[in-house]
Amino acid sequence: MDAVTTPQRMCAGCRERAAKDALVRLVWDGETSVVVDLHQRLPGRGVYLHPACAARALKSRAIGRGLRRNLDGKEVGNVLATLPVG
Ligand SMILES: [Zn+2]
Repeated sequence: MDAVTTPQRMCAGCRERAAKDALVRLVWDGETSVVVDLHQRLPGRGVYLHPACAARALKSRAIGRGLRRNLDGKEVGNVLATLPVG
C-alpha cells in the first residue's frame, strides 16, 4: 500500500473502481454541452470512465444518468471521440 492513497472513482462504463488518474472525467458545462475535464478540476457533477469504456458507457446511457442530464447520445459520442485513447 502506498502511504498516499490515490483517490478512486467508479468507471461509468464497466462500473469498476479505478484510480482517478486512470479515468477520464466528463462534466456538464452548465449550459449546453458535455466537456472532457482533462485536468479533473472543473466544478460540477462529473462522470468518470476509462477511455476504452466510452462506447460502453454511451450505450448504457450511464453518462447522462451520472450527469443528471437528458443527453443526446450523438453529442456525447462526439465528445468521447475526442478522448485521448491510451
Ligand atoms: Zn471502465
